[in-house]
Amino acid sequence: TNTKKLAVVTGANRGIGFETCRQLAKKNIPVILTSRDEFKGKAAAEKLESEGLEVSSYPLDVTNAESVEKLAQFIRDRFGKLDILVNNAAIALDFSAEGSTVFQAKVSTIQQTIKTNLYGPLLLCQALIPLMQINNYGRVVNVSSGAGQLQEMKSGYPAYRMSKTALNSLTKMFAYELEGTNILVNSVCPGWVKTDMGGPNAPRTTEQGADTIVWLATLPDDGLTGGFFRDRQPIPW
Ligand code: NDP
Repeated sequence: TNTKKLAVVTGANRGIGFETCRQLAKKNIPVILTSRDEFKGKAAAEKLESEGLEVSSYPLDVTNAESVEKLAQFIRDRFGKLDILVNNAAIALDFSAEGSTVFQAKVSTIQQTIKTNLYGPLLLCQALIPLMQINNYGRVVNVSSGAGQLQEMKSGYPAYRMSKTALNSLTKMFAYELEGTNILVNSVCPGWVKTDMGGPNAPRTTEQGADTIVWLATLPDDGLTGGFFRDRQPIPW
């Protein structure tokens, strides 16, 4: 089993993250399903285990540096390396709330959103990419959104949009600093997906939403890095 890849998915107790765990595990990749609520994470991992999949759970709040460091320590001690990181956890506070224009946006809402959607992936990359460098193999997938595309400016949810544009910039910076290694870092827009965040009117299933995430998580050694993708195609931002 030492030759098997190992994956970590954040915010994986429900929605797209949960389905991403299922699809990775179906590819014979053991998955650590992480969740900020330990019990929800356990229940979610047990559901996938009952489907015959190799999925375990570990508590992780992506806004908490100690929690991130605990996960890194656990993986180092137990597995000695990591192969795949999917930064999926996110919040969309201003989808429904106050301030749908940037004139109305509250700094506190922007701060809270960026803490989860940007600093979270930053902390995870800083803590876990070193565990990929051990074997010079890594695939990092940052789950972003078309809402972060600035060449298609629309009004609405400024905090969420800023956080996703910034996440795409994080992807590019890590990809640049890892150039020449076999650690590939990309962003993905899953499309509009039926989840708690996407709502009931979204046209896509979580199966469809997870497809490009899993594709990027399993890119071949000559795969692209530093890109932003939807439906397995590069898109601008
Ligand atoms: P959901 O709201 O259904 O799930 C979000 C997940 O993130 C939950 O598991 C939630 O945990 C977790 N989470 C939130 N904050 C934290 C935290 N601080 N630490 C750890 N986990 C946290 O969202 P989706 O599944 O729809 O979205 C997944 C990703 O896809 C997100 O990055 C989102 O921005 C992106 N996306 C989604 C789209 C859609 O249409 N659904 C469209 C474009 C992008 P808990 O259950 O404890 O709240």
